[in-house]
Amino acid sequence: MSQSNTEKTATPEPKSVTGQWSDLIGHEQIRDWFATAIEQGRFGGSMLFVGPPGSGKRTAAKLLAKTLLCERVPPASMSPCGICNSCIQVEADTHIDLIRVRKPDNKSFIPLELLIGERDARMQEGFCHDIQLKPLIGKRKIAILEDGDFLHEAGANCLLKTLEEPPANAVVLIIGTVEQQQLPTIRSRCRIIRFALNNENAKRLLREVHQIDATDERLSEAIEIAGGNMHTARRLLDSETNEFRDKLINLLLAQHPDPVKISRILTEQITAVGKDPKKRRHALRDALAIAVQHFRRNLRSAAYSENFDAGLMPRLDRSVRAIQELDRNANQSTLIECYAADIAAGITGERGGIG
Ligand SMILES: [Zn+2]
Repeated sequence: MSQSNTEKTATPEPKSVTGQWSDLIGHEQIRDWFATAIEQGRFGGSMLFVGPPGSGKRTAAKLLAKTLLCERVPPASMSPCGICNSCIQVEADTHIDLIRVRKPDNKSFIPLELLIGERDARMQEGFCHDIQLKPLIGKRKIAILEDGDFLHEAGANCLLKTLEEPPANAVVLIIGTVEQQQLPTIRSRCRIIRFALNNENAKRLLREVHQIDATDERLSEAIEIAGGNMHTARRLLDSETNEFRDKLINLLLAQHPDPVKISRILTEQITAVGKDPKKRRHALRDALAIAVQHFRRNLRSAAYSENFDAGLMPRLDRSVRAIQELDRNANQSTLIECYAADIAAGITGERGGIG
C-alpha cells in the first residue's frame, strides 16, 4: 500500500508507454471479459475484486481506469495511450473523474466520513456523493474503494444504494483480499472478479514485473511460504531475507536448538526494520512462516524415514500457533521468548493465551 503512495508522488513523466494490459500477468481471461463487455457497451456497475495481495487487483483497476478515460484511444481497443492528460492523471492519481478511497494508515476501518462526508456535510462529499456527479473530462466516473477488507457494517450500509444502483455509465470497484471476508451485503451486490494466480503465473509475475532473478525452486518456495501473498513473496526473496532464512534454518536444524540464539536472531530481524509496528509484525510473520515451512518440509520427508524426529510435529504446531498469536497482536518480545523456549524444548507450549 505504501507503494501506491510512492507512485503518487513520482513525477508522471510520459517518457514511454507504460501500464498496458500485457502487464497484468496471469489474468488474461479477466482482461478478455472486460474487453468483450466494453466492446458490447455493457461494461459498468459494481464489481468486487478479490485475490491475494499483489495478485494484480490494483493493477487491473488502474488499467481499467486508463482504458475507460484515455482521450486518444477508444476503450474497446484496450490499449490506453499512456501519454494523454487523462492517462497521466490516472497514473498520478489526480484524475477528476477517478475517485479513490483507501483506509488511512492510522485507522482500523474505512471512516464513514470518506464514504458519506463529514458529519455536518453528510452526502455533500465523499465516495457515495462524488460518484453521482457528472463526469467532467471523461465519459465515465470511476470509483475505486481500496481496502474492502476494512469496511465495517455501518460503512457497508452507506454503500449499499450506490452499489445497487450506480449512476449510468459509472463503474464502482471494491478491492478486497479473501472473498469470504467481504460482507455478504457487499458480495451480493457486486459482480465478483477473482484474481487467483497459479504457481507458474506467480513466478512469471515475480520475474517479469518485479525483476527478481532467482531459481525456479527459490521462487516456488517463497510463493509457498507467503501463501500466495505476492508482497510477502517479494520480501522473502530479497537477499537479506535469504541470508536470514539460512541462519534461522541452521538454528532450527540443530539437534538441541539454542533458545537464546533463536530469540536473538528473531529480535534482530524485527529491530532491523525500524520502529514501525506494522513493519515489525510483517518481519516477524515472515520469519515464523519460514520456520513453519521448514518444519513442514522436514516432516514430509521424515514421513518416509526410519529415524523419525518426534520433535518436528510439536515444533511445527508451535510455529503455526506463534503466527496466530502474532495476528492476535500478542506482545512481540514475550512471543519471541516463549516461542524460542518451546522450540528448544520441542513442545507445543500450549499454556492458554500468551500476551
Ligand atoms: Zn491516453
